[in-house]
Amino acid sequence: MRPSILNPLFADVTALPGVGPKLGKLIEKAAGPHVADLALTLPINLIDRSARPKIADALIGQIATMEVLVDRHEPSQGRRPYRVICSDESGFMTLVFFHARADFLLRALPDGEHRIISGKVEDFNGARQMTHPDHMVDPESSADLPLFEPVYPLTAGLSSAVMRKSIAAAISRMPDLPEWQDRAWLQNHQWEPWLHAFKSAHQPQSLAEVSPLAPARQRLAYDELLANQLALALIRRTRVRAAGRPIKGDGRLCAKVKSALPFDLTGAQKSALKEIFDDMAAPDRMVRLLQGDVGSGKTVVALYAMLNTVETGGQACLMAPTEILARQHLETLAPLCAQAGIEIEILTGRDKAGQRAAKLERLADGNIDILLGTHAIFQETVKFHDLACVVVDEQHRFGVHQRLALADKGPRPDMLVMTATPIPRTLALTAYGDMEVSVISEKPPGRKPVDTRTIPIERLDEIIAAVKRAAAKGEQIYWVCPLVEESEILSLTAAEDRYAALKEQFQDRVGLVHGRMSSVEKDAVMEAFHDGRLSVLIATTVIEVGVNAPNATVMVVEHAECFGLAQLHQLRGRVGRSELPAVCILLYKGPLGETAKARLQILRETQDGFRIAEEDLRLRGAGDLLGAAQSGFPQFRLADLSVHSELLAAARDDARLIIERDADLASDRGKALRTLLYLFGRDDAVKLLRAG
Ligand code: ADP
Ligand code: MG
Repeated sequence: MRPSILNPLFADVTALPGVGPKLGKLIEKAAGPHVADLALTLPINLIDRSARPKIADALIGQIATMEVLVDRHEPSQGRRPYRVICSDESGFMTLVFFHARADFLLRALPDGEHRIISGKVEDFNGARQMTHPDHMVDPESSADLPLFEPVYPLTAGLSSAVMRKSIAAAISRMPDLPEWQDRAWLQNHQWEPWLHAFKSAHQPQSLAEVSPLAPARQRLAYDELLANQLALALIRRTRVRAAGRPIKGDGRLCAKVKSALPFDLTGAQKSALKEIFDDMAAPDRMVRLLQGDVGSGKTVVALYAMLNTVETGGQACLMAPTEILARQHLETLAPLCAQAGIEIEILTGRDKAGQRAAKLERLADGNIDILLGTHAIFQETVKFHDLACVVVDEQHRFGVHQRLALADKGPRPDMLVMTATPIPRTLALTAYGDMEVSVISEKPPGRKPVDTRTIPIERLDEIIAAVKRAAAKGEQIYWVCPLVEESEILSLTAAEDRYAALKEQFQDRVGLVHGRMSSVEKDAVMEAFHDGRLSVLIATTVIEVGVNAPNATVMVVEHAECFGLAQLHQLRGRVGRSELPAVCILLYKGPLGETAKARLQILRETQDGFRIAEEDLRLRGAGDLLGAAQSGFPQFRLADLSVHSELLAAARDDARLIIERDADLASDRGKALRTLLYLFGRDDAVKLLRAG
């Protein structure tokens, strides 16, 4: 149960004074539904009112705070605004109010009295003026005037003043919590206690204090990262704790396949394989991520891991996200398995009942050594004789929770999850935590880079002409239309319009595939493309983890500026899979901003998926890296991964140590850490602990 001390933070934002349902909606949009969300929203900027010039010295265009004498009011006349003339010993200044209420102004600025006013100084025909000062206070209550005002992220309809007030109310609900960080670690960094750091992050006194490098900000970032890493470590521990079994084959099947392969493994494949074999041989259960850029050759590596299992008498399975990918795996792996004299089979949602029953029987008897398939593999009725190794392809499609659920399906099989999305180390850590990672860092020799060009959409005619030339040579073309995030309908229209336009040029040699189609329909189109019956395949991003069409030489991406770089890189990886030179055309709608230009430029410069991902992280921030729709990565509020990656690594080590020493979080620090987990909404992880 969440400690009651946190309850005020997990109330709805409408529990705050002055926040009704309407404002609540806006706040929820800007920060989140709970008081805690508001409290953990930090300033993004600062208004500095500390400049205290005399009127004559005030800089035009700058914020200044000045003590003035109110000389006289000039009420509005016709279209002329309400004016209040003020002065100090250096000169005069006019305060200007539109649509002003005289009674209010007379009270706020009484004739003949002194007032401190703060706002932006303007020039009006050589005289100083200020339109709608931000603050007007009696000198006696000058303490009410904030010299440094935090600026929070807003949303349309939500004003700065209202947001500031709501956040101040949320801040006041933050209790002093027991310290969860290691004392020595705090001292080392000269970090303040939680509540101090929290408050000073909300009350920056200089721009440096708004920077993610400010000590208070770093401490809070570390708190958030530790919560993330600790939660992952707890989840991982419950999955891995029950020992697996050592799997150490004698190498006879691997040797047979090796002699049948037309190529040698690359050094990178070999070293990944060694890590995997060592891990499988250990008594602990393997939970390992295999990362490798598109085309780096993950499939063979997975095959060896599965063969290793079969050599010991166990079964293995490989799960792919789509039927067509599963079939492609069968196409590649079946001849190799035949060579090795072992049984491989495929199970998908589309098997006929009789067929399926027969397969299930052979599977339960242990007559099938390797099973390929889709989600269908994990249905209740599918029983293995002795499933010892599970490989999941294209991991990021499944999401972290599905991955964890998978692990429960076998008798603690070793798990290898493969992803083609090059996830920067920092991000991999946040999503997979302590999961072991193997990386295939080089591609097989002889791959030619894909000629990558960025072209404005205005030159569409030229592109279509080029596509026609390629098609005439028997080559194939992918044409990707973007997924419009807010509207599936809109994206569909875009893709359908393009389809209609290209249909005139290519008749029945053009196909369309999109997310609204059933998987049967989708696969039919994909297969037609795969078999060469279509020249052009128009798609929303579904082809991202798509088919292998060696004849495809052209990848056109419309509105390339809307895609994540990693996504574009994935798409580009669909072409250039044969000896034919390949080109990737990134169509954009100008004018592009500096960041957008820099991003597309990276794709032209390099074919290295990891570098692309790192650069993208730097330019866009973590949340956007994989495209919001499919990210599955945690969003941080206090941590900024482009700055705090060292803290992330430290948090990982810290979490590991905590679990080693105090597995159930039962010590005083352990209890405080439970509170930390709750504060950051990681209730799921605390539930894995024994009560205490
Ligand atoms: P991915 O990592 O994207 O899943 P694949 O496993 O599909 O990549 O491999 C891409 C292609 O590279 C396949 O045609 C495969 O046969 C080939 N391949 C894999 N390893 C090597 C290698 N060491 N040398 C040459 N070709 C290889
Ligand atoms: Mg693959």
